[in-house]
Amino acid sequence: MAFVTYSYSAPVSQSLFERAAAVTPGGVNSPVRAFRAVGGTPRFMVSGTGPYLTDADGREYVDLVCSWGPMILGHAQPEVVEAVQKAVAKGTSFGTPGEDEVVLAEEIVSRIDPVEQVRLVSSGTEATMSAIRLARGFTGRAKVIKFAGCYHGHVDALLASAGSGVATLGLPDTPGVTGAQAGDTIVLPYNDLDAVREAFAAYPREIACVITEAAPGNMGIVPPLPGFNQGLKDLCQADGALYISDEVMTGFRASKRGWYGIDGVVPDLMTFGKVMGGGFPAAAFGGRKDVMAHLAPAGPVYQAGTLSGNPVAAAAGVAQLRLLAADDFAAYDKVDAASRQVRELTVEALNKEGVAHTLQTAGNMFSFFFGDYGDAGVTDYEAARRQESFRFTAFFHSMLAQGVYLPPSGFEIWFVSSTHDERAVQRIADALPAAARAAAEAVPA
Ligand SMILES: *Cc1c(COP(=O)(O)O)cnc(C)c1O
Repeated sequence: MAFVTYSYSAPVSQSLFERAAAVTPGGVNSPVRAFRAVGGTPRFMVSGTGPYLTDADGREYVDLVCSWGPMILGHAQPEVVEAVQKAVAKGTSFGTPGEDEVVLAEEIVSRIDPVEQVRLVSSGTEATMSAIRLARGFTGRAKVIKFAGCYHGHVDALLASAGSGVATLGLPDTPGVTGAQAGDTIVLPYNDLDAVREAFAAYPREIACVITEAAPGNMGIVPPLPGFNQGLKDLCQADGALYISDEVMTGFRASKRGWYGIDGVVPDLMTFGKVMGGGFPAAAFGGRKDVMAHLAPAGPVYQAGTLSGNPVAAAAGVAQLRLLAADDFAAYDKVDAASRQVRELTVEALNKEGVAHTLQTAGNMFSFFFGDYGDAGVTDYEAARRQESFRFTAFFHSMLAQGVYLPPSGFEIWFVSSTHDERAVQRIADALPAAARAAAEAVPA
């Protein structure tokens, strides 16, 4: 049986996991980390350098999670570390404005044209939550359109049919979110402009905003069909609703200007996180100046944070964004190249073993869906959920046993960094044949 082939132990991680489970629900502080979708012992990591992670049992892995996106320059990038050390030595939080917050905001505003003003927060969840509040405050309307399979953090109103951990764990609509909190959320199938048109027709001048992942990556990669994002923008504009593009995952990653740099559709508001924090809790939302002017203290919509714009997080974010921009954004050439190599090697290995799959990309971001999807590929959540997860499980454990750390769910994407060099890619290449064979031989649980 497939799972016997991959039995290997991680005793230190296992014992940490047991201790964790005693004091933390499920033993983790974010659900996908618990390996529930794939089974087995989550690896407790103790250090990272470049494209590598080392776990508590002393085993080294090539990392294809990169902290779910932020570590685009690899782990412990020396200049980011130095910037952080300098900032830490000067004091870690003042509860006052500071220069690095201004610099970080300037980096974002100068790079992303639709963002005229930006507010810093501490997580992507806070960014989307605040953007929605602002959209409601600005328009004086209540309803929000979101798409099935899009994840915008664990904001109450946005957890309906969310991707990421909600998809991984197959949770229905989450207990703890009341009808009142979710009642103004309209969930529509992704890539279905007609459904959006019908919703606007059914609720004229009642919809505050449409929020969408710029290019969804939380149900695996499901890129917008040509014209979809522009269509959303046009429908919003015609009705006086705001178009919010969630670039928490794609921002400063899918390309140097995120997904906006690829499709050029101009949102009213955008959200950022992950890469812009340089591995620290920093996120942001921003956009049209006349909309942002409604935020306190400039305007009446309240939003705040004790650690918002934290000097250490801001220093890390500034260092990372500047390094990404250095030498005419050369880091992205490396990320693009690593992404292409890993994609090609994986396709080759899967084809060799006859494993039906579809590779989907959004800029340098990518993911694989196991199963026969024909030419149409995966265009919405329903299709994403039809993937042959049992094949991913076998594939995942084979890669893990061979020292390659993939996201522990077929609904998540694979992340590379600018440090995924020839040696790291070779280690992935060496692991792929056996993993592809394991996927081919896997049987449904
Ligand atoms: C990760 C993510 C979030 C939530 O960010 P957190 O920092 O985890 O709260 C929101 N939107 C998208 C698209 C994401 O990928």
